[in-house]
Order: sequence, then structure tokens, then C-alpha cells
Amino acid sequence: MVIVRSIDELQEAKQALAGTIGFVPTMGALHQGHLSLIQRARKENDHLIVSIFVNPTQFLEGEDLDAYPRKDKADIKICDIAGVDILFMPSIEAMYEEDELCIGAPAIRGYVLEGEKRPGHFDGMLQVVMKLLNLSGASKAYFGKKDAQQLALIAQMVKNYFMDVSIVPCDIVRDEKGLALSSRNVYLEGDEKQRALALSRSLKKATKLVMAGEVDVETIQKEMRKVLEVTDEIEYTSIVDRAFKPLKTVEIGNTIILVAARVGKPRLLDNIWI
Ligand code: AMP
Repeated sequence: MVIVRSIDELQEAKQALAGTIGFVPTMGALHQGHLSLIQRARKENDHLIVSIFVNPTQFLEGEDLDAYPRKDKADIKICDIAGVDILFMPSIEAMYEEDELCIGAPAIRGYVLEGEKRPGHFDGMLQVVMKLLNLSGASKAYFGKKDAQQLALIAQMVKNYFMDVSIVPCDIVRDEKGLALSSRNVYLEGDEKQRALALSRSLKKATKLVMAGEVDVETIQKEMRKVLEVTDEIEYTSIVDRAFKPLKTVEIGNTIILVAARVGKPRLLDNIWI
């Protein structure tokens, strides 16, 4: 594995690769969720590039940019063992210049749910993902369904800008109790880890209701909210189609049920595709 930190180094390292490239962009503090993307990309491509970059433009004022967990040493080991060919760990200066051209999230789908809670977040996310996809030269890039709205917006960007890369959605990895893995789970203290399980429990409850024939979105969300009462703040529950348009009734095969809640310090996200 080669570790590269500048754009020139990356371009040079890529020249040694012949064949298809798979790409997994991350913000590091790697866990089993990231690893599942890396392992899948490893299997499906001749070569594999992983990036680790905590992108400042997707953090809002007052968010955890400075405190975001960083574990470079462990991450490098994980990538090496997982068979990564190029690990790209750029500096902020390598990625950005002043007074840049910006792309923006779509006015509706980019400003509901996460986009409403974190206005501007998706602009920064799309900006860096566009850069990283272009730099990687990958034919396939792997993203987790865990960040379902992010995934939908990236797929839309690739479609709207006619980018020559396939976006591969990957299943959510959970711990043995059902908590969706996230780099921010390290912020959970004391009983918060237990209370955080309410997110996945609320999704299980919703699934059970759908399986029992309930399709009314309002009824399902009411039941989810009861399960979520143990969290510190329910930010939203939402039931949308795969293009993130709100639904009145669940359409099996075309529905995503989402939840965001704060438990202690971190905001936690989870969802299930039905
Ligand atoms: P991040 O480092 O949080 O930016 O995440 C990098 C990639 O890993 C994104 O595509 C995430 O959706 C994905 N990811 C994060 N957590 C999980 C998880 N628990 N299961 C599957 N994918 C995940």
C-alpha cells in the first residue's frame, strides 16, 4: 500500500495501476462499517483507493470539526491489511484554494431532513465528493446506506453532471445489539449506548407494523416516536421513497424509513430500506 498526501503523488501512484479502480471515500476513524465497503470494493475491482479526509466544508459553525475522532495510525494499519493499493490522506490545502467554484445541493432534496438540520452540510459534502471522485479515476465508488440522504444526493450529482462513475450503495453494518456503527458512537457515555438502541428499535417496530399490513405513514411514525422517547431529542422521523420524496403510504420496495435523534452529545442517524 502506498500512502499519498498530495494530488501529484496520487496521480503518480495511479499510473502504476492497470485495470479497474474501486474507491471508498471516508473521514477516517475506521470501523467495521467502513471496512465492509472496503472489502466489497476490494472484491469487485482490480485496484482499490481509499481516502481519509475530514472535510471542513461539510461541518457547520459550532459542529465537531476539531473534535472529530482521528485515528490515522490505526486507520493506516486497517487499510494495509484490507489490501488497499493507495491510501489518499490529503491536507486541507491540497484539496482547496481560496474563492473556489462551488456546487450546491438541490433546493428541495438537499434541504429537508439532514439538510434542514444542517443547512449547507450537503453543499460541502457534494463539493468534496465531486473532487474525490474526479481524483480517484474510479469506475465504481462505494457509499453506505447509513447516510441515505447523502447517498441519494451523490447519485443525483453523478446523474446531473454526467459523471462517469457507478455509485454502489452498501448495507448498514450494526453492532450485535443493533446500533448502526458510526465514528461518532465514541461520544456515547454511560447509559447513552443503551438508550441509543432506541433508534434501531424504532425501525424494527416500523418494519413489524408494515409486515402486519400497516402502511399509513403517520401511524407508523407515531409508534416510532413512542420507542424514541428515551432519547434526549428526536430530531426527525421520516418515511420517503427512494428518491427522498415524502410518502403518505408505504410502498414496499420503494421506501426508506429514517430516524435522527440526539443521545447525549452525538446526533445519531439510522434508517431501513423497505
Ligand atoms: P464517514 O467516514 O462517516 O464519512 O463514512 C464513510 C462511508 O462509510 C460513507 O459512505 C458512510 O455511509 C459509510 N458508513 C459509515 N458507517 C457505516 C455503517 N455503519 N454501515 C455501512 N456504511 C457505513
